[in-house]
Amino acid sequence: MRALLAVALLALTALAGCATDPVDPSTPPPPPPPPPPTVPFDQMPEGAGHDHADPASHKFLWNYEFTARDPLMSNPANIAGLHAMDLQDGFLFGAIYGSHGASVDGGMQIWDVQSDPTQPKALGRWTIPGSVGGDRSIGATADGDYAVIGLEPVDCLGHVNPIGAATSAYLLDTRDKQRPVVSDIVTPAGSGGSPAENPTKPHVSSHSVFVHRINGTDYAFIFGQIYEISRDEAAGAKLVYVGSVSTGHDIYVRDTPWNRTWALSANGEGGLVIFDVTDPAKAFEIATWDREDHDEMGYYFHTADVAFVEGQTLVVLTSEDFGPHVSPFWVLDGNPLTAITAAGQSEKLNEIGEWHNPYNHTAANIRFSLHNPRFHDGAILTISSYHAGMFQLDLRQPHMWEHPQMIAAIAYAEGDVPLTNDPVESAVEGNLCQLGITVDAPMYMDVAVGSNGTLYLGDVFMGLYTFVPTVDHPVFGARVAGSA
Ligand SMILES: [Zn+2]
Repeated sequence: MRALLAVALLALTALAGCATDPVDPSTPPPPPPPPPPTVPFDQMPEGAGHDHADPASHKFLWNYEFTARDPLMSNPANIAGLHAMDLQDGFLFGAIYGSHGASVDGGMQIWDVQSDPTQPKALGRWTIPGSVGGDRSIGATADGDYAVIGLEPVDCLGHVNPIGAATSAYLLDTRDKQRPVVSDIVTPAGSGGSPAENPTKPHVSSHSVFVHRINGTDYAFIFGQIYEISRDEAAGAKLVYVGSVSTGHDIYVRDTPWNRTWALSANGEGGLVIFDVTDPAKAFEIATWDREDHDEMGYYFHTADVAFVEGQTLVVLTSEDFGPHVSPFWVLDGNPLTAITAAGQSEKLNEIGEWHNPYNHTAANIRFSLHNPRFHDGAILTISSYHAGMFQLDLRQPHMWEHPQMIAAIAYAEGDVPLTNDPVESAVEGNLCQLGITVDAPMYMDVAVGSNGTLYLGDVFMGLYTFVPTVDHPVFGARVAGSA
């Protein structure tokens, strides 16, 4: 074996034109990796003396600094309602929901984050009157010309929004960012453009939406149902049903480096299922994963994302939790999926790592649960975590996968808290829906990531926060210093 290696080395060095000195003994070994950053001490004391609704008590910033907040239309009687976001072509699209505050109207808000990424500029707003729900419920096309918003017009209290009840999703024409307009709707019976084409799997509520371009065509994954966003200047853009994959919660759609497209479906009470959707009309399952202690633990699977880094395939699956548990995410080995390009071969993935907040805060009625994650910049994972704020982790190297390294965190609030405590709604919500969500500051539901690590955090009560990395940031700091 050693002889073979030597021959190979000689051949390589001969090719490189330096056969006289195949190994330079003076070459120093590569430097050891820098020590992981020291995680700051817990900034979120629980119990007496700490008011979770007091913005002044929540100013924690680690490797990020605050630059802007847009309170949207929040005031003492109304929450901001910002719940989910999608950043495309320099525009930030936000879904507005009133599911946790009876007063707020639903809809969509668009910001320009290109002119000055540190100061989002509000452009148009589209409103649906009355309270609607939704979760990961907005996606926009890569050119920013269209957005899809999913609705849950019936909330857990049994409130029905009379305007939203006949609609489970809207296709919005956002070519004019000041004046977004409705281009098509999906009703419980199918899409407005072609109701007869989707009679098989009607659903009233659309908990999640993801929009993705596959082989030059835009598709909307609306709670598992797949629609082509068909652009026709004469007839207007329509949602045309092409197929479906199963989901119990979120679907993220990602391209692999080897020209396949995957839909990662976090199935809530079920497990993770990954589908190949390279041809969205002919989706097929390629992977599953679940935990045996799933029911016992009480959390459910919320969102999955995938990173392709240094020839490795890395899947992350997050939990959401209302119970007395610490809400984790799991790191899964996606490498067995590299070779699958046809139906009939589904792999059971293996868990290779796990992470939860370093302070062991239990989810406690979702207050410290994980929520929406995003992989970006290789395999940096940024995840929103309600009142716990935002955590950012580095998974770019295989040695980081078993215990992902925390590199930044934010739990920051400012401004005035809306006073939207409706005693009846709160009592019913706590007892019947078992949500018990209270007004906390902050309450980050989603994160969108701009260039050079700029972060947009969607706070359902307080609005849109913008943060930029400091020069001390272990990944983005050098870029910040270089651009200064
Ligand atoms: Zn607090």
